[in-house]
Amino acid sequence: MDNFIGNRRAVNILKKAIEQDRLPHAMIFAGPSGVGKCTLALLTAQALNCLTPQDGNACGRCAACRRIMAYVESRHKECVNGESSACGVCSVCQARNRRHPDMLLVEPEERTTISINQIRDVIAETAFQPLEARYRVVILDPADQMRVEAQNSLLKTLEEPPSRMIMILIATNPYLLLETIRSRARILPFGEIPSGQIAQYLTQNEGKSGPDARLAAALSGGSLGAALDFNTAEYRDARESALEFVKLLLCCGSFTRASALAAVAAKDKDVFRTWMESASALLRDVYYSGVAAGRVGQSDLIEKLRVLRQNTRHSHLVRAIEAMRKLQTDLHYNVNRQIALEALFINLSR
Ligand SMILES: [Zn+2]
Ligand SMILES: [Zn+2]
Repeated sequence: MDNFIGNRRAVNILKKAIEQDRLPHAMIFAGPSGVGKCTLALLTAQALNCLTPQDGNACGRCAACRRIMAYVESRHKECVNGESSACGVCSVCQARNRRHPDMLLVEPEERTTISINQIRDVIAETAFQPLEARYRVVILDPADQMRVEAQNSLLKTLEEPPSRMIMILIATNPYLLLETIRSRARILPFGEIPSGQIAQYLTQNEGKSGPDARLAAALSGGSLGAALDFNTAEYRDARESALEFVKLLLCCGSFTRASALAAVAAKDKDVFRTWMESASALLRDVYYSGVAAGRVGQSDLIEKLRVLRQNTRHSHLVRAIEAMRKLQTDLHYNVNRQIALEALFINLSR
């Protein structure tokens, strides 16, 4: 737990409660995605069940620790041999087989939500004492996406929790949970991870170069998960074209050139999404370069951004930022990407 990145306050609250043996039987880990809520829930399970704890910390090496970590190792991963039924011998399958029998990590099976049948299984299984663990830890991730019936079926377990059981509900938005659930659980809020800490993690643990790490950190919205998934090379390509478009947009440049850029960017839906995010981030950074240089995410471009800022009227810049944001929302509907982007350009050129 001491090596957990970010959210020190949540870590300290948990550590203290474990030390004093007064951890609530039900908790909601609430906060943005990608900050490690589920990982911290598993680390809590380790701290509660480690066979040879050292100074109140899980050792990370004993059988209990390793079998709980097997969840992290096999989570979101599929059998390496890609067979329809698991091969049983690859590293992912082996980690899956090592999983601790008393820990329950409940995740959506087929759809995007945890089903009522999965909750029924949890209730049936937790009716018995844990086989080996001091505490059985049940983690529901994501809990806030559960349908009302599934949530309702959990209520009785929360009202009369089995002894030696801790339930942790992972939620991006705890207010999607029923009030009756929230009132029976302690909410532990999580925040975004400061980009400096993310960048440091990426250089030290992922071997990224300083500039790449800072770029990924600046554009990941405080999520370590997003920063790890971030494709720097792909983004740099998109950014180069987006920067040219932003220049044309702010300085009322050539429509023909803007239209050509729009045509290339709009070809593929996913490419376009990255491109739009990039253009929006650049516009925000142009804005910040004039008022709060410390908030400029793409600091490698700061000189170019400052020049743009000096040559753009404030009201025009704000209109451009708003128009981009609206177009990003409209992308959820099936708009024609190229035409929408060209229309935005013409509107702002007036
Ligand atoms: Zn241990
Ligand atoms: Zn396998």
